[in-house]
Amino acid sequence: MKVYFLGVGGGIPSQNRASPATAIYFRGKILLFDCGEGTQIQLKRSGLSPQRIIDIFISHLHGDHVLGLPGLLSTMAMLQRTKPLTIYGPPGIRSFIETNLELTHTQLEFDFAIKEVEKGTITHPNQYRVECLPALHNIPAFSYILRMTDIPGKFYVSKARRLGIPSGPLRKRLQQGHTITTAGGKRVKPSEVIGPIRKGPIIVYSGDTAPNPKLATKAKNATLLIHDATFSEGHKDKAKEFLHSTAAQAAQIASKAKVEQLALIHISPRYVSFETHEKEAREIFPNAFAPNDLDVLELNPSRKFLARSC
Ligand SMILES: [Zn+2]
Ligand SMILES: [Zn+2]
Repeated sequence: MKVYFLGVGGGIPSQNRASPATAIYFRGKILLFDCGEGTQIQLKRSGLSPQRIIDIFISHLHGDHVLGLPGLLSTMAMLQRTKPLTIYGPPGIRSFIETNLELTHTQLEFDFAIKEVEKGTITHPNQYRVECLPALHNIPAFSYILRMTDIPGKFYVSKARRLGIPSGPLRKRLQQGHTITTAGGKRVKPSEVIGPIRKGPIIVYSGDTAPNPKLATKAKNATLLIHDATFSEGHKDKAKEFLHSTAAQAAQIASKAKVEQLALIHISPRYVSFETHEKEAREIFPNAFAPNDLDVLELNPSRKFLARSC
C-alpha cells in the first residue's frame, strides 16, 4: 500500500507545490482524497493511471480541492473508461459535477455515482471502511477516516509441508479458520500454520480544518494522519481567522491520537521551505514530516513505513 502526495500546497498552486490531492494505492486500485487543479498531471507524473481510481473523496468545495475534477472526468470519458467510479463529498458536490458535465457536454459512459456525505460511515465490505467527520472550516467540510480491512495472517507453507498437509482443499480450509485432519490422522489447528491477523492500516485525512479534538479521538492509533498545516506558528492568528491549523497544532492532534506518523500538507504558498513547519511539529510529535509534491510513502503489511522518495 502506498500513499502518493500528489499535491501538498494550499490555497493557490505554486511552482513547487500543486493543489491538494492524495492518492492511496492498494491492490491495483486508487482512492483519491481531494482533487485540486492539475491533479491529472500529478497522477501522470507519478505513473498512476486515472483509470485505476475507484473512489474520490472531496473534503469540501473550496476551489483548491475540487477544480481538478472536471478535467479528470473529461479525461476518463475520453479514455473510454468502463470501470465504475464514485465521488463522495459535502452537499453541493452533485450540483458542481453535474453542471460541469452538462456545460462541457461530457458524457460518462461508465457507471458513475455521486454521494453527498453526512456525518457517519460509508462502508465498503471486503475492502475498507470510510468514516466522515465534520471538519472545523469556514464552509461545510469533512475529514475522512479510512480503515483498511485486516490482513490475513501469513500462511507458513514450510510448516504445512512438515505437518503433511498438501496444497489444495485442506490448506484452504485452514485458511478459512477450520481445524483439519491430515491423511495421516493428525488434527491441525489454523494457528499451527498461520500467523496472527495483521491490523489493516488506518489513514486519516483531515482536509482543511482548525484543530479538531473530535478528529484526535477518531484518529486514535492511526497508521498515518495527513493533516492541514497551512501555517507555521508565526501566523497562528491567520490559522485561527481562516479556520486552518498550524504545523504545531497538527502535531498536537497527532500526539493526542498517538498516531504512528504525521504528514503536514496544505502548506500556504507564502512559505518557500517546509523547514519551520517540520521543526515546530517535531518538537511536539517527532514522527512528523512535510512531504513534497510526488513523494511516496510505502506502508508494508506490518504497518511500518519503509520509504520516502521523490
Ligand atoms: Zn484549501
Ligand atoms: Zn478550504
